[in-house]
Amino acid sequence: SYAFGEEPMKDWDLKRREWLKLHPSFAASEEKVLLVTGSQPNVCKNPVGDHLQLRLFKNKVDYCRIHGHEIFYNNVLLNQKGTGFWAKYPLLRASMLAHPEAEWIWWVDSDAVLTDMEFKLPLERYKDHNLVVHGWWNMLYEEKSWTSLNAGQGISGSDDQSALIYLLIKEKDRWADRIYLESEYNLHGYWLGIVDGLDKIGEGYMEIDRAVDLLRRRHAEKMSLFYGAMREKHMKDRGFWKENVRRPFVTHFTGCEPCSGEHNSMYTWEACWNGMQKALNIADNQVLSRFGFVHPDLLNSSLVSPLPFDFPA
Ligand code: UDP
Ligand code: MN
Repeated sequence: SYAFGEEPMKDWDLKRREWLKLHPSFAASEEKVLLVTGSQPNVCKNPVGDHLQLRLFKNKVDYCRIHGHEIFYNNVLLNQKGTGFWAKYPLLRASMLAHPEAEWIWWVDSDAVLTDMEFKLPLERYKDHNLVVHGWWNMLYEEKSWTSLNAGQGISGSDDQSALIYLLIKEKDRWADRIYLESEYNLHGYWLGIVDGLDKIGEGYMEIDRAVDLLRRRHAEKMSLFYGAMREKHMKDRGFWKENVRRPFVTHFTGCEPCSGEHNSMYTWEACWNGMQKALNIADNQVLSRFGFVHPDLLNSSLVSPLPFDFPA
């Protein structure tokens, strides 16, 4: 059988409403998000693997702290019969049951970096759906393509991604309305097409921050609302909605395998490592700048320089 758990959950919405009534301290909110991520139970074979896992986890913790999301890190295989490829679904099911207060459970692969710490999930547009995945409907139904959506797995044989595509094609009427395929922003951005442009993207943002900071220093009063609006205007004028100018939300290192060190033969481990340093540091710069520091060189993770700093803008 392909079922997870003893038997399918019945009347979840009803049970959840009852639970929330009995636990009024968890005020129901459409915005409540639990980020779920994780990694293998054992020590990484790659000597730098566990270090990378720590930095990848820190990145997600930072994002959650900034946006008020909860986070759960799992490193056991809940379905002992399943392989690592199927690790997600039993975990997501258990997370839903353990956290009925969460409106959304958000799975993020350990090898995915949140490279825009300001980006807010557009939850409003998902409110009539049960599942959000990166993908394209036309690719799914016209081409029946295996890469038409991305549930966090590369192109492979039988895994959760191909299973979801199979269900959507075989039982369209039953599932399609419940699922939102997102393609308007990088919910899953493939690292290879992204990392070379990150230095320039980072510099663009720093230029904006410098311009707004200068304005702020020239005027004695702190008018943070005004400067926030200024920043947005500057960004709009300079084309910050465009790809290669705007920070990608997620940079996913599919095929890099930080823990085992094995990687796709199309590229070297050095390319994976450098790409991860750049993605982790451009994200960390958005956190560190609030503390008055910056990594001036995205490839040099240990070097930081102080920024002109008094009070966050
Ligand atoms: N994973 C896990 N436990 C395991 C193996 C994998 O939780 O034992 C998670 C981990 O977060 C990983 C994700 O499953 O990022 C998917 O695997 P991977 O990223 O290696 O696949 P890829 O994105 O490279 O196709
Ligand atoms: Mn991955």
